[in-house]
Amino acid sequence: MPHRKSIAVVGGGPAGLRAAEVAAESGARVTLYDAKPSTGRKFLVAGKSGLNLTNDQTFPDFLENYQGKDLPDWFGAIISHFDNTQLRAWAGSLGIETYAASSGKVFPIGMKAAPLLRRWIEKLRGLGVEFKVRHRLTEIIPTDSPKLVFDHEGKTVKAEHDSVILALGGASWPSTGSDGKWVSMLEKLGIPVTPLSSANSGWETNWSAALLEQAEGFPLKNIVVSAGEVSRHGELVITRYGLEGGPIYRLGPAIRRLAEPHITVDFKPTFSVEQLVAKMESAKRNFLEEAIIRWKLSPAASAIVEHLYTSFPDAQSLAMAVKHCKIPLTQPRPVDEAISSAGGVQWSTLTKELMLKDYPGIYLCGEMLDWEAPTGGYLLQASFATGTCAGNAAIQTV
Ligand SMILES: Cc1cc2nc3c(=O)[nH]c(=O)nc-3n(C[C@H](O)[C@H](O)[C@H](O)COP(=O)(O)OP(=O)(O)OC[C@H]3O[C@@H](n4cnc5c(N)ncnc54)[C@H](O)[C@@H]3O)c2cc1C
Repeated sequence: MPHRKSIAVVGGGPAGLRAAEVAAESGARVTLYDAKPSTGRKFLVAGKSGLNLTNDQTFPDFLENYQGKDLPDWFGAIISHFDNTQLRAWAGSLGIETYAASSGKVFPIGMKAAPLLRRWIEKLRGLGVEFKVRHRLTEIIPTDSPKLVFDHEGKTVKAEHDSVILALGGASWPSTGSDGKWVSMLEKLGIPVTPLSSANSGWETNWSAALLEQAEGFPLKNIVVSAGEVSRHGELVITRYGLEGGPIYRLGPAIRRLAEPHITVDFKPTFSVEQLVAKMESAKRNFLEEAIIRWKLSPAASAIVEHLYTSFPDAQSLAMAVKHCKIPLTQPRPVDEAISSAGGVQWSTLTKELMLKDYPGIYLCGEMLDWEAPTGGYLLQASFATGTCAGNAAIQTV
């Protein structure tokens, strides 16, 4: 009987499930371990407001969305080996058809994650994947065949496999299982990890009580938000602690690069300063009140400029504030509230097959690697693609 390779996948999010699928389809004996009583918990959470599986964008535009410390050129090759077309075909093969919205975002028909996850796990069971839940990985002993130490309901359980694929996720929404506690375990093995931090998250600022009274919960629609050289169009919402919304999520990496985090908002992007001033022609005072009528400045925007700038002696100074409103930020919202986390295992420590250079036989995939991306389907796409890569590679090594 030929030796069937035994592969442990630790972490049952989309990256780990996909790695398990690929390895099992190639004939490996796969055991999938997860700390939680069930797998795919964050995937299910992601499906609550519509599972955005991937994006319909063409390469290389698609790849432009990924960043990370020293993200290597070959990251693109990993995504292209299991790209957005293949991901949609894969969902179709499980009987889940997808559609692309006008924004390019791709969703399963029905929007939810649960039917897809159910069929996926059925398929994995059919392929012989053994699920061991409530197994929290606590230590890796890197010998020729890596030994794994788990905490299983208070008892220590050891396991040995020919290869190991780690897919332990990032640090957002720890209740789903991805709590980032693996960082210290890998650092003990000398593996460099960029600290995990909030990505796709809101930011905090010190709004005054008066501003909150006036504008908490109000939207800022149709604005352009900039951080350094990067700008995004969209909508923000004023919250008790700061700001939430698509443009600020997307600007996270650019804001983090600034010595003093802040954004600059153009509340009237379709008008120049000169055009705004011209609309104030006969006004001599109460410029802010006039701006609400003449510029159709929203109540939220007017509240912000009023509270951040002390006075407007003329229409020009108000127009400048409305077009270049600097909002200082203090910090991103805590990582456990964020949609995803930035940081992770650094690329210099990995081969192109996602194997740890210093520990042959141990592969990594998913959000635990040092890439980040905005919402829009890019997070799941990279989790699936890196899982595919690790699953394929793990079956190759003897
Ligand atoms: C609210 C929300 C909405 C989202 N919506 C979208 C979306 O629409 N589109 C999109 O592209 N992305 C979305 N995401 C992000 C996406 O869900 C994640 O990027 C993706 O799940 C990461 O996959 P992963 O397999 O790397 O990790 P995870 O899905 O986080 O899975 C990691 C697994 O590892 C297990 N684990 C961790 N540590 C251990 C340990 N020590 N031992 C054993 N097991 C362990 C965990 O229990 C977990 O099951 C969303 C995220 C959130 C929070």
